[in-house]
Amino acid sequence: MFKRILYNLILITAVAVSATGCRSVPYTGRSQLMMSSEATENQMGEEAWQEMCKTTKETRNPAMNSALNRVGKNIAAAAEKPEYNWEFKVFEVKEPNAFCLPGGKVAATTGIFPYFANDAEMAAVVGHEVGHAIARHAGERMSQGMIQSGGAAALSVLTSTAGAQEAYGIVTQVGAMLPYSRVQEYEADQLGMIFMAKAGYDPAAALTFWNKFGKLGSSSRLMEMISTHPIGEKRLQDLKEFYPKAMEYYKTAPVKRGLGEIYSPK
Ligand SMILES: [Zn+2]
Repeated sequence: MFKRILYNLILITAVAVSATGCRSVPYTGRSQLMMSSEATENQMGEEAWQEMCKTTKETRNPAMNSALNRVGKNIAAAAEKPEYNWEFKVFEVKEPNAFCLPGGKVAATTGIFPYFANDAEMAAVVGHEVGHAIARHAGERMSQGMIQSGGAAALSVLTSTAGAQEAYGIVTQVGAMLPYSRVQEYEADQLGMIFMAKAGYDPAAALTFWNKFGKLGSSSRLMEMISTHPIGEKRLQDLKEFYPKAMEYYKTAPVKRGLGEIYSPK
């Protein structure tokens, strides 16, 4: 389901690609290739979200819903994107997963909740996903894929009457379904730690969460989350190295929440 929505998103991005350009990522200052417009990406995010909501059951678990809304709103405020149409929903899906679509639609599955010890660990994950969106990593991946495979050829196929299977092949071919690159993954980690710290959550929780999550890597239920957000020693090391920087944001946060609410073990 998550994958299908991403395919649709990427297909539409590909068709909507217009101007060639570069952009500087907020906070990190990294220069990235960007061939799509943010408005178009957000529109696609909105459409993918509508489809997700139509086809996937939302949970009625009040504790999960209020936790994601509580943490999500704090992270969204820290990301300083008031023009996003932020929404936070928990879906009844067993596989642990979370994402943030372009434009600010944030989802978590019921399956990821048992892995959170507290609000701050959830803030680490939501911050990381929001980081991918703020840094426009999906648009960047697509832009890179277009360049690598020859934009014109990819476009002509994408705008033809290709069936779903064929489209899947094309999307894979242009590299858009590959996992986030290491550069993007580390960048989302940094942005995630910055956002959680600005929102008043102790950034040390990012280290405890990703450490814990990385050790669970072999379970098949974790595969989608792990495959799109690979966790290796280098990534954990980089998180540790960035921690003092994140603490600077934490020190100046207007509200300190520490670990936030602590969840009782299931
Ligand atoms: Zn990631």
